[in-house]
Amino acid sequence: MSIHKIPLPTSFEIGDVNVYLLREKECLTLIDTGTSSSVGEQALEKSLAELGHCVEDLDQIVLTHYHADHAGLLERLVSRSGAKVYAHPLTERLILPTAESLAERASFFDSVYLGMGITDNIKRQTVVDEIVGYQEEMGQAGIDVELHEGDRLPGHDRWRVIYTPGHSQDHISLYQEQDGLMVLGDHLLQNISSNAFIEPPSTAGEERPKTLMIYREALRKVNELEWKVGYPGHFEDIYDYRALIEKRFRSQEKRAKSVVELVQAGKRKGIEICSTLFPKSMNYLPLIMSETLGHLDWMTAEGMIKKSVTDAGVWEYSPVK
Ligand SMILES: [Zn+2]
Repeated sequence: MSIHKIPLPTSFEIGDVNVYLLREKECLTLIDTGTSSSVGEQALEKSLAELGHCVEDLDQIVLTHYHADHAGLLERLVSRSGAKVYAHPLTERLILPTAESLAERASFFDSVYLGMGITDNIKRQTVVDEIVGYQEEMGQAGIDVELHEGDRLPGHDRWRVIYTPGHSQDHISLYQEQDGLMVLGDHLLQNISSNAFIEPPSTAGEERPKTLMIYREALRKVNELEWKVGYPGHFEDIYDYRALIEKRFRSQEKRAKSVVELVQAGKRKGIEICSTLFPKSMNYLPLIMSETLGHLDWMTAEGMIKKSVTDAGVWEYSPVK
């Protein structure tokens, strides 16, 4: 068995995305695909050639999660190689959106952004369009085999699927216990904290998943496993993962404390709290709103603050005396 890191360029601010080639006897598996771009595709071809392979050789493609930098090139790679696609059950409807699922998504984010206090319809429409438009860059191919927690990866049966939701609700990591290897996707990154993006519930009408709390739970899960090398979706390999996870927990706790203090100081609306926490990042609204709402959800669940809803659908946070 061997695993090879292949960094591919993206047009996203984060820079390269790392995909991985897993080689074993008769089975050649690519983990993640990179973005849907010819530059990325050519970079992948070049790296595969250096390893003695070509795209057409791929037997399987595994997705860690649906984001465009991880799954964007999926359709193209499947059409060239005929590779079987493996991913979490929630991935397919995210990478193959329908008019109905896009409309559901738009209405979900409209109510979240209204709840957070963006009452200007045009402003809200702009950010909702941006989020929903992001779906167009998705992998656009079907999933052949669903991967669940604990499943062995076909063709690589020493690798086990660990369900690690939070950054996205369909996120999986892959764990190989014997050699202590963990393919992390975006679950844990060395240089930046992974955002626990706000997402609609997987079934319409269900309660919105509290993604930061779910993410923390999934961080604890990989923290408890023993491994030596983590292969992330961006940046360098991760070795001292327990210290890194501890660092992530501490900074989340610090931010949660700030959120409670802002509510105690009289900030009532999500957008006020968000713009106070991230005054310089207002151009990245989906990111910072996820960050803010994640911490508001968490502190509400902890009973530190409480939420009420105005007639207009705006959420108001207040301290718990
Ligand atoms: Zn991601």
